[in-house]
Amino acid sequence: MSATRVLVLNSGSSSVKYQLLDMRDSSRLAAGLVERIGEQSSRLKHTPLATGGDPREWTGPIADHDAALKAVSEELSKDGLGLDSPELVAIGHRVVHGGKTFTEPTVIDETVLAEIERLIPVAPLHNPANLTGIRTARALRPDLPQVAVFDTAFHTTMPESAARYAIDVATADAHRIRRYGFHGTSHAYVSRATAKLLGKAPEDVNVIVLHLGNGASASAVRGGRCVDTSMGLTPLEGLVMGTRSGDTDPAVIFHLARVGKMSIDEIDTLLNKKSGLVGLCGDNDMREIQRRIDEGDEQAELAFDIYIHRLKKYIGAYYAVLGTVDAIAFTAGVGENAAPVREAAVAGLETLGPAVDRELNAVRSDEPRLISPADARVKVAVVPTDEELEIATQTYALVSRH
Ligand code: AMP
Repeated sequence: MSATRVLVLNSGSSSVKYQLLDMRDSSRLAAGLVERIGEQSSRLKHTPLATGGDPREWTGPIADHDAALKAVSEELSKDGLGLDSPELVAIGHRVVHGGKTFTEPTVIDETVLAEIERLIPVAPLHNPANLTGIRTARALRPDLPQVAVFDTAFHTTMPESAARYAIDVATADAHRIRRYGFHGTSHAYVSRATAKLLGKAPEDVNVIVLHLGNGASASAVRGGRCVDTSMGLTPLEGLVMGTRSGDTDPAVIFHLARVGKMSIDEIDTLLNKKSGLVGLCGDNDMREIQRRIDEGDEQAELAFDIYIHRLKKYIGAYYAVLGTVDAIAFTAGVGENAAPVREAAVAGLETLGPAVDRELNAVRSDEPRLISPADARVKVAVVPTDEELEIATQTYALVSRH
């Protein structure tokens, strides 16, 4: 196959993030973002990485995803990289929810579109936007293979014992209620990159991956396959996040409805948007929280402690799930940058094997690296995640086989 370029699209309800990669060497040719689609002040930011030129910004009305993608193609064309280029071999789409159906990246056809649509009730915020992005891209390049890469796919290997909630089976099945997990592309990429960092094959290592961004999730990966993860039916379950509560007693919801007289929508907003770090201390940016802690702010300190306590509980749980652990890997905005979070999360776990070396932990780098002392029985790693590269890699591998 001569064409080697893959365009990766991540379509939200009012935004499109994109990257163009050349899969001969996985290099990035361009990257950008269209925001506030449908408003008067839409914004396109385009970085022409291949030419090393300065980022270009444009503000004005972009009516819909169709107009957004055409604007992106125009920007790409200025550097000879337009969507009509024969060098473009496929478009890879991030799709949040693939349910139980999609266990792998999938070439998109009408049947696949119908199934992604059928999953909207379990992903009402994300799948419609992903579908719009796919339909728009297909209309622009109907001849080009388009691939859906699902956030849930990596977690479909979870055994039923981890994937099922202990609720009435008939009710659960009727509404497709089970634990699906998210951030799968990142957990897949980081667990493999961690194995590589240890000089081993993914099949030969057990890894706990901690994806700590604004959204946060943990996963237990045995020999390259996910056996448990902290997010569930939706991305609300599990760790304390920027604005999401993570685990709570489900009866909190009944209580807020019955006693607090809140509507379901109000509770949904409370738990998804006004909880987590922002609910606990008013800030969801870990940099700001650390700055406040340094100034002696007790509310910020308590928020940090609750965040770390939950993280530790998941690390402990996944030790028990995996039996033996070779490495703990930190990734995403907080995991890659916040040394105090990494130090605090691992502190006190030394009898289980992991440890953090203060000096190594303080090093800032974009490269995957170990931050545990050389003699630690369980390695601790920082592995920058790269979901776009993973989507492009999976897309290219799939179309190359066809
Ligand atoms: P993500 O969702 O992966 O983009 O992560 C975003 C989050 O990463 C932000 O909300 C911050 O809390 C956190 N973050 C980014 N940079 C830093 C940093 N230098 N130190 C601490 N936290 C950071």
